[in-house]
Amino acid sequence: MLNQPMLRCPNCGNQVPAKVVSVVDADQTPNEKVILLSGNLNAFQCPNCGSVVRVAAPLMYHDAKKELLLAFVPPELNLPKAEREKVIGDMMRDLTKIIPQGSFKSYMFQPREALTMQGMMDTIYEAEGISPQMMKEQRERMSLLEQLLGAPPESQASIIRQNDARIDQQLMQTISLLIQRMANEGQTEVARALAALQQLMLENSTFGSQVMADAQAQEAIVQEVTEALNAIGDRPTRADFLAKAVEYADDELRLQALVGLARPVFDYQFFEELTARIESATGDERLTLEGLREDLVELTQVLDAQSQAGVEGAMQTLQTLTRAASPEALDDLIRENLPAFDETFLSVLMEMLQQAEEAGNAALLNRLQAIYSRVMAALRQQMPPELLLVNEALTAPSEEEAAALINARAKDMGMALLGTIDAVRDAVAARGEPELVARLAKVRELAIAALK
Ligand SMILES: [Zn+2]
Repeated sequence: MLNQPMLRCPNCGNQVPAKVVSVVDADQTPNEKVILLSGNLNAFQCPNCGSVVRVAAPLMYHDAKKELLLAFVPPELNLPKAEREKVIGDMMRDLTKIIPQGSFKSYMFQPREALTMQGMMDTIYEAEGISPQMMKEQRERMSLLEQLLGAPPESQASIIRQNDARIDQQLMQTISLLIQRMANEGQTEVARALAALQQLMLENSTFGSQVMADAQAQEAIVQEVTEALNAIGDRPTRADFLAKAVEYADDELRLQALVGLARPVFDYQFFEELTARIESATGDERLTLEGLREDLVELTQVLDAQSQAGVEGAMQTLQTLTRAASPEALDDLIRENLPAFDETFLSVLMEMLQQAEEAGNAALLNRLQAIYSRVMAALRQQMPPELLLVNEALTAPSEEEAAALINARAKDMGMALLGTIDAVRDAVAARGEPELVARLAKVRELAIAALK
């Protein structure tokens, strides 16, 4: 409900138009609920001098789903009891005008009175499961971020180290959400600054070094399990994988790596074979195998849920990119989303390209093709020069052109180039692409010749 008096700006004396809100309903006026919770309800900016003028006005808040009815009459109005009750009664009448007819319930006879505006906000937040303690922590996170964004770049790292205990998972999540929101609102500068801060936090905090150490340990285990699988030979059978899984039965990290590396192996038939083996086992062995089956079922479910979430995230990123208003805006968005362009993203993009082509949707197809070529260009820029050269050599139209590329650049890279070729070959071989392995062998020959 609105009424519109003119206020006098206490700073310059100018008249300020003020639409004072006295009733907020979570369902009927959701925007005003957001403004209320941001602490800016009934605050008006003077068009002349920019000062913010706050109006101390009575307020009623209603949320039917939570059966919450709150009233606040500012104490500075110094209203006698009868007046206060009249004001609350008036607001009650205004509320019944905006809520659906017949939705009046018994809790609405007696609104809870809040003593302060902050108290009213806390009660609303608590009804949504957000405690004052959580609010306080979130405010502290925001103020740390504001401090860091306002600090000169050379002092940011030391501010981060001083606030080491506050750098945690929740702060990282808060930053990620902010980056997304800023990018969606076109505030690319702020989004970029936040992404840089996040990176700086990972590099300069106990939390960050823990994250890195965990990632390294995990990577080492994946590497070890990969080698163990390669040692089995070219065509490992289900029985081979079952034997490996039994070997790792008490080792959650290795078991997890095994499932991650060979998810398709753990299919219905695998579990049937495992069950047959459980039924023929006795005693401790049987218990171990039963535990293993339980762990494998859980690991495959978690992995499937993760890849589903990955696909949904990729779809979202792709949708953001398709909404870019201009090629420049697209490049900005691509720069901000670089970490999101993984294999999942590229396969989702390829799938969408194919669908657009089959549907004959030329406009969408054009858009997706532009996204594809700009993303690939951005990824190439991110690549180490050795990897870039290997890629270019592999996609060169002829062997002569590949040789020319390698001859021109190999000398500067030295033996690092051979190391890169071998790493790519191992990765490709693990995926089972013999043709590409053969082409890499050719590239390796050319590189050795060029390095001589
Ligand atoms: Zn003013």
